[in-house]
Amino acid sequence: MGTDELDPLPLGADLVMMSHDRNDLESSDCPLCGSGGNPRFLKSRDFLYTKEEFSIARCAACGALYTDPRVKKEAIAKYYPSKYSLYGTEATAKSRFCGLRQTIGAVFGNPNLRILRRLRGSGAKKVLEIGPGDGALLELLRENDFEVVGIETNDECVRRLNDRGIKCLKADLNEAMAFLPVSSFDAVIMHHAFEHLYEPIRALRSISSLLMDHGLLLIALPDAGSWEARLFGQFWRGLDLPRHLVHYDRITIRKVVSDAGFGSIQVVPVAFPSSFVESIGFYLFGGRMPVSLYFMIFYPLKAVSWLTMHLVGSGAIEVSALKLVSPCQDGDKGK
Ligand SMILES: [Zn+2]
Repeated sequence: MGTDELDPLPLGADLVMMSHDRNDLESSDCPLCGSGGNPRFLKSRDFLYTKEEFSIARCAACGALYTDPRVKKEAIAKYYPSKYSLYGTEATAKSRFCGLRQTIGAVFGNPNLRILRRLRGSGAKKVLEIGPGDGALLELLRENDFEVVGIETNDECVRRLNDRGIKCLKADLNEAMAFLPVSSFDAVIMHHAFEHLYEPIRALRSISSLLMDHGLLLIALPDAGSWEARLFGQFWRGLDLPRHLVHYDRITIRKVVSDAGFGSIQVVPVAFPSSFVESIGFYLFGGRMPVSLYFMIFYPLKAVSWLTMHLVGSGAIEVSALKLVSPCQDGDKGK
């Protein structure tokens, strides 16, 4: 176990720099409805890396929770160290629970297999993932004969994907729009990426233009209205300040997707046991817990996560929606 995996910050320790006078921060109006002057709702901090304190506002008009002030877009990269995944493949491979992980993974499945089944069921062929990270999902989809494209801002992730022969643009969605043909994808996926976007409304409009008629939008993200979020409060992993800019719940995500011209919207809980375990780490250690302890809790929890998700819900949700075709477009087709 590397020492960088143990980074305890005793609770109450005054190591936190108040960030509000820093010039890499900006105050913002509600990213969903534009309403300004909203009161602070909660203070939390960047438990993963900098330990800096940030706050979350609640929009008085639409109820959305959003990080305010937020780090300016041009300064956010330093909050994304290359090792963003805390307990990823590297740490897991070193752990003595590696065999157990593979067994439980085989028995209880993984989120990518669920997405694969969903895409097969939809008849999709060409899939865009925004923020593919390590690219595991795109690789799985390609192995299953989907035509895949990624958009990613992290240099290393882009390089790794391109090395594996997967087309991935080094760009954010706005930049990528210049290169991607409209109405060309059957499905667009954002797996824990949408909550990182500075302009979510604009992004959904862009995605809508990239999708074919009745194309599928799949978004997985933390649920700020979940019991897990309420239980852990400022220590909840799903806040992930300052990287998460909007903290959606079932109501706000449904509304924003609907307003962007999508229909047949379904919002369902998805098992996300790492969020629960990492939240315990934030509470007990003020940051990451030792890797061995993490896996000691994670695997038993993962084994029962399907059951607990159906009994009490989970800290994450998945939204699926179809691009609506406007009546005039339908009419044009009929002519
Ligand atoms: Zn609002």
